[in-house]
Amino acid sequence: MLSMDQQLQAKLAQRKEQNLYRQRHLLESAQGAQVQVNGKTCLSFCSNDYLSLASHPAVIDSLRRGAETYGVGSGASHLIYGHSHEHHALEEELADFTGRPRALLFSTGYMANLGTILALTDKGDHIFEDRLNHASLLDGGLASRARCLRYKHADCTDLAQRMEKVGESEKSSNARKLVVTDGVFSMDGDLAPLPELSKTCQQQQGWLMVDDAHGFGVLGEKGGGIAEHYGLDLDELPILMGTLGKGFGTFGAFVAGSEALIETLIQYARTYIYTTALPPAVASATCISLKILQRETWRREKLNLLIQRFRSGAKQLGLQLGTELMNSITPIQPIILGDDALTLRVGEQLRAKGFLVGAIRPPTVPVGSSRLRITLCAEHSEQEVNQLLDAIDTTVSELKSMDLKNMKPDGVDK
Ligand SMILES: *Cc1c(COP(=O)(O)O)cnc(C)c1O
Repeated sequence: MLSMDQQLQAKLAQRKEQNLYRQRHLLESAQGAQVQVNGKTCLSFCSNDYLSLASHPAVIDSLRRGAETYGVGSGASHLIYGHSHEHHALEEELADFTGRPRALLFSTGYMANLGTILALTDKGDHIFEDRLNHASLLDGGLASRARCLRYKHADCTDLAQRMEKVGESEKSSNARKLVVTDGVFSMDGDLAPLPELSKTCQQQQGWLMVDDAHGFGVLGEKGGGIAEHYGLDLDELPILMGTLGKGFGTFGAFVAGSEALIETLIQYARTYIYTTALPPAVASATCISLKILQRETWRREKLNLLIQRFRSGAKQLGLQLGTELMNSITPIQPIILGDDALTLRVGEQLRAKGFLVGAIRPPTVPVGSSRLRITLCAEHSEQEVNQLLDAIDTTVSELKSMDLKNMKPDGVDK
């Protein structure tokens, strides 16, 4: 019998052989267009701080003042006197911002998704998930006692068929149907067809839940995300989730919806109940970032300019932007390379040249669709985007002409 460590080492070695091993790098600066990593200055195209708010002076100042008043840790869960005035004020502002009666803060997006899905479903219910949903949504489906079905990416016809089938064989008409989707898909940057999904849900009496981690701050004139982009109200989109660690530049997450939804989550969402509340100072900082996010429309305009620059440049170079039929109008711009080893090596070479991009491989994306995940932020300049495009072009051509099978990825011998 192999020891625990021997068993684990064998599994780790296998992951390295498959070019799927993940490594961390040491970040030595704040997020921004330029960052310090492993002692080196690099241009960063991999953070989700799309509006460059994570190190905005007013946001930092608000965090500092919040800590001076409330200390650092919240010290308790929301239900046991950990729910501060700052948390509450932020919830009210988020409700206002999303045009929903109420909003509820969670400590992370992962927990918001898990807790919401589990609080809303039980044995005998059905959950319908887009195949390309974020891991936290899929994990919620797996952890639920309800039956979880995955429909074809962004395919309302497939969803409707699956919902109908379930409806026919339903013994109890009280069984719930929860439809769950990313708003902006995290690895592809494309949008869920929400108006159609919403209609399907209304026809099939399903409840629609949208995770808009990547839409808030980026889409909609006021940064209201995919709900604002498509103009969907509470009836059309009853369960709206967002995260604060991306476009907002801070940390945490929220769910917005009706009075009954939010009270249900307070009573039943275990990831809300059994965890320490966010530091109140993070809530204060988020109140400020929310104001900037709405007011400073130039950040979205700048992003859109950069997105267009990137896409037209990439097309000229013949790079494959997204998988078939999937086009991104968001700061998430994938370049599909397909091969895991090639993707890993391109990522490493780009880092050596001073450019950071995500080298995304299975299981984060489907097998055969490994990609560079490029993200743009308001602080980037057009010139920096051009530099990135040049670097990708030369790196990919250099590596494609080599025999990757005989090259070991950096991680293997360490
Ligand atoms: C990042 C992300 C999450 C998780 O949010 P955290 O606050 O980082 O835990 C959930 N859903 C999507 C689509 C995400 O991209």
